[in-house]
This record gives sequence, C-alpha cells and structure tokens, in this order.
Amino acid sequence: MQTSARLKCIDARCGLEYPIKTASVHCKNGHFLDVLYDDAPDDSLKETFLHRRDHGSSIFDESGVWRFRELINFAQIDTEDADACARTLVSLDGAEGRQSRPYHMRRAAEFAGMNPEGLFLQPEGYNPSGSFKDNGMVTAATHARMLGVTKIVCASTGNTSASAGMFAANEGIECDVYIPEGMIAPGKLSQAYQFGAQIIHVDGNFDDALKRSLDAAKTGGAYTVNSINPFRIEGQKTIPFRALEYLGWEAPDWIVYPGGALGNTSSCGKALSELYEWGWIKKIPRIAVINAEGASTLSDMYNGAGLRWNAGRPDMGLIEEHYAKMDAEGRLPDTRATAIKIGRPANMIKALRALELSNGCVITVSDSEMLDAMSVVGLNGFDCEMASGASLAGIKKLVGDGVISPDDTVVGILTGRQKDPTLPVEYHENPANAFARPPRS
Ligand SMILES: *Cc1c(COP(=O)(O)O)cnc(C)c1O
Repeated sequence: MQTSARLKCIDARCGLEYPIKTASVHCKNGHFLDVLYDDAPDDSLKETFLHRRDHGSSIFDESGVWRFRELINFAQIDTEDADACARTLVSLDGAEGRQSRPYHMRRAAEFAGMNPEGLFLQPEGYNPSGSFKDNGMVTAATHARMLGVTKIVCASTGNTSASAGMFAANEGIECDVYIPEGMIAPGKLSQAYQFGAQIIHVDGNFDDALKRSLDAAKTGGAYTVNSINPFRIEGQKTIPFRALEYLGWEAPDWIVYPGGALGNTSSCGKALSELYEWGWIKKIPRIAVINAEGASTLSDMYNGAGLRWNAGRPDMGLIEEHYAKMDAEGRLPDTRATAIKIGRPANMIKALRALELSNGCVITVSDSEMLDAMSVVGLNGFDCEMASGASLAGIKKLVGDGVISPDDTVVGILTGRQKDPTLPVEYHENPANAFARPPRS
C-alpha cells in the first residue's frame, strides 16, 4: 500500500506544512511538527500484521516496527515491494521491536494490588540496544537515509546514545552524542563507545546537553535524532500498536509510561488518536505519565499550574515562568533514575495533547518506590532499569488512590533493560529494602 505523507506544525495558530524530506524538527516559527498521512489505512491490515508474525525470510515482517509499516509509511513506498523496503527502510535485520509485547506478571500484579489477568507489562528493554529507543531510532535513521545524511547527533541520558550509535554503526554513518558528564549509567556509556560513537562531554545536566547538541546540529548541518524529531515519534507508535495487537485491538483502560522528555507519551497519544480516527479501536485508553519526584516538571505544570493543551494553544507563559523560577532557585532535576532525570521535557506540548486526548493523568513516585518496583519486576523473571520501575510503581499508586480499579486492564511500559548493575546489588545487600534478599555466607 502506498500513501502520501507530509509534515505539519502542531500549533493551532500556525499550521504550516512542509514536504516529508525536511530535516528541521521545527516550523519556521519554532513549533514542533507532526507527520501526517493522507489516507486512512483499512483495518483488514490487522490480518496482514498477524500473518507477518510468521515472517518467513522478510526482515521487515520480522521487525516489530516495520511489521506495521503501512501505519508509519512516511517514506511513501509500496510496502509490499521487498526491494523498495530494503532500499528505503533501515533495520537491524528485523531485530527492532521484535521481542517486545505485553506479558502477564503475577508478582507485579500482586504488588500493585491488581487482578493478575488485567495487568500487562511490556519489556521494551528486549530491543537490540536494550531500550524502547530503538523503535523510534530506526525510523529516524530511515528518514536520515532518505535525506542522504552522513552524521546524526543527539543528547542523551544514555539509552538514546546507545540506540543512535547502534543504528549509525549499522548504516556506516557518523554519530555524535552529547552526554552530561558523570550522570549516565556505565552500561549505556560503554555501548555508545562500543558502537563507535563520538562522545562529547557536557558540563551540566541533560537539559544543557540537549541545548548543546541542537546548537551543534544547527551550525554543523548534522541530523538530530532526539525525540523532538517527529520521525522518532512515528516509530515509537509501534509500542502501543504491539500492545493493542496482542490484546486483539481491544483498547485497555490504561497505558502507563515513565515520563522523561515525553517522547513516549507524545507518540502514544498520536497512535491512539490515529487508530481511533480510523475506527481501529472503539475507545481511547487513558494515558498515565509517571514522573520522578525530583524531576516532576510535567506534574508540576499539569497538576500544579493547570497547564493544558487548550486546543493547540497552551499557555507558553506558564512554562517560561516555571523554568525561570527553577533557574532562579537553582533547582535541578534530582533522581537516581537517570533516564528520566530531566527538568525541561522537550516534548511537553505534544504530551499535553496526549493527556487531553486520553483524559490522562500525571503523578510522581519516589526513588525508593521505583527501586521496589524494579525489584518486583525482577521477581517475575524479567529485568528492567530503575526508570522503568516508575511504570509499575505508578500503577500501584494509582490503584491505591482508587484511580485505577483493580479489575481494569492496564499495560505498563518497561522502557529499558537494567544497565546499572550496581543498583540491584546495592538494593539486595540492604536488608531494609522491602524486596531485598541479602547475601549470606
Ligand atoms: C528515554 C527513557 C525514558 C524516558 O522516555 P521519554 O520518552 O523521554 O519520556 C524512560 N525510561 C528509559 C529506560 C529511557 O531510556
């Protein structure tokens, strides 16, 4: 199936459009862009996607991202033409998204106080570079290939750089990564080195690193692969696609994500909005975003300041005021969950749209709640990192608060695999921790 696609500004007052082969992540007035498709895909494709799981020799059917290629066909190719796919679509031989889907986890359900039949957790850490980032990086790398780009650039709390480095190595292009020095998990840093990326140390936090990388992209003509890139968002839509497919396209009551730069939240909102508009799902699940207590900008803005999407005209003054206050007080994001240690979430506006669409909510959890949840995920035979623990910790809190009912159907996204091996060791060596099993001799 072939379709036509374009880029459109998300701001209701602006609405500028650009051709798909545009490298900029902003419209000329500085607003973010969406990829829009002109044709509604037919829901008979549900059968096609299912058949592709028995993929034969096609890496594009095997890929958990490209299996859904009709729904993200920004490359505007004939998706049944194997040569066109091979020429155009980047893939790590079908590995991206291949192993992630929702799983039942009994111990996790017990922990959260839910009916075990209703709780699913989806380990996106089982992607080739160990996090959900591969879902969106493979599509951003595809767009970079369409533009003939020779260098990609990103700022990273770790997993973005691992994923970008991996796909850049696979494509034989350069990759520069801006990293807040000393603040990323050793397992992530070592991946970026191993994939041959150029590390650039930034004296500051992730927000400073993002600013530096965007400046470098602007002056050096490199291609930005942070989640403000709308093609990242397209690939990450396959996370809810896979969840929904495994649920027979019956929408769950809730989808729950940790909130960092909010690319995931944004992509989930866009996916649900499109599926609903096309009639593929009959209801829109509620999205819950879980912030760390010490990095809670979205929660502060949404719950504290009452910031809303407001039909595409959010009150930008509220955000500027908040950031000015954070700066004046010298308030920096503070959590050991480095993947969500972000003070200025770059995708906040698109995330507000997702919350509006889905009647969503935002809450915060503490570091110790995340560590407990991370450890409980382990007791089910799955592994995840501390930031991913936010999903399960958040579900537990929302059940406790009566927002999620114990009999609801909930999909929590476990965003990444454990890459800081010191954390579980430290957790279990301290008998004071709720799920610790201390060593003995
Ligand atoms: C990047 C990342 C996040 C944050 O995701 P956003 O889309 O930026 O909100 C959470 N967990 C892990 C493991 C990550 O790598």
